[in-house]
Amino acid sequence: MSDEADSANETIQRELENKIAHSRNALEKRELQPSGRCYYCSHPVDELRLFCDSGFAEDFEAFNKRKR
Ligand SMILES: [Zn+2]
Repeated sequence: MSDEADSANETIQRELENKIAHSRNALEKRELQPSGRCYYCSHPVDELRLFCDSGFAEDFEAFNKRKR
């Protein structure tokens, strides 16, 4: 039983990581324009924002800074 739960968690985790990786990729190529929707979860957001979750935005900024 716990094996099934673990495997479900792993699948969710992998999907989440895929989404983040995809969003970062698109942002790096400057393909993303604020559209009024979060690029991470499609939740409606302020039209100047790319993401509803500021934690993720900060994470992305940190990711960019590390690259420089
Ligand atoms: Zn979101």
